[in-house]
Amino acid sequence: MKKAFSEVLDKVVSAEEVSKNESLKQSVLKCIDCGIPVFHRKEHNRHKSFVSAHFVRGHEHIESCRYHAVGQMTILARLSDDDVLSSLDKKNFIFRLTMIHEELGGKKEKGRDQISQGTKVYPTNKKYEGKGKLSSYLGTMKKIIELRNLLADDKKDLTSIVEIDFQGKKIKWKNFYYEPEQYLQAYNYLKKLKYKDRHPICLEGTVNSINYIEKTGNYAVNLNWGTQGNNNEGILQIPSPSIYLNKIELSELSIEIGDNIVTCAKYAVGISKRKGREFLKISANLDHRRQIVIL
Ligand SMILES: [Zn+2]
Repeated sequence: MKKAFSEVLDKVVSAEEVSKNESLKQSVLKCIDCGIPVFHRKEHNRHKSFVSAHFVRGHEHIESCRYHAVGQMTILARLSDDDVLSSLDKKNFIFRLTMIHEELGGKKEKGRDQISQGTKVYPTNKKYEGKGKLSSYLGTMKKIIELRNLLADDKKDLTSIVEIDFQGKKIKWKNFYYEPEQYLQAYNYLKKLKYKDRHPICLEGTVNSINYIEKTGNYAVNLNWGTQGNNNEGILQIPSPSIYLNKIELSELSIEIGDNIVTCAKYAVGISKRKGREFLKISANLDHRRQIVIL
């Protein structure tokens, strides 16, 4: 949590304010929604990455609180009438990534495989309906991402209760959702994945530049480079993600440089070598504007 209610000041304070004014730590701080006691944590480094100041809970929030992961997921699952998210039991949830994958063209890929194997395929011709479904699935995913970010440093609360199902196989959150410190892992994960196992992943990052591409008439939204590494030969590797979209999507989304965004898509990877460095390209074409969540 980034905010808390300070009893002594009788107002909402940010974690940064409390970092600057240590005396506030001595007084009672409460969850802004359900009022349980919370404790302040100063900004610090954890496993080489920066953790900003935040509040942690002493015990579980009450169920109707916006910071109660299970309570909020239960509401999301109830609202998701299309089964893309459903409750497994009272505490765990299943997110069916297969449904998004298929609407993003995965069904066509499967169809193509079947044709090549001589299996009869019936045309679906459900393009319009498909877009509506995709929109609804992505809407649910957007809410999960927003909730994950609202829980901020209680992220584990959410990721440990959601199981991601992809064609009957379980995918771990860490293989599905990547922050800039994990772009190298994303690149390596996608590189190793067999074609038939390809699935959408989420990349979170800050918009660095937006470029017009003359050749295609589309735009590239480039994110800040992720944490760099070295390959076996000691060559510097720089992960650089880009999302390609057309002018209409770009203007409807109104993305600006400096925005923090999350994009769920089927990314492709590639490598380009320049000046003794390797740029690890992680890129995706956007099919639907709801694939991007602006945080
Ligand atoms: Zn609460």
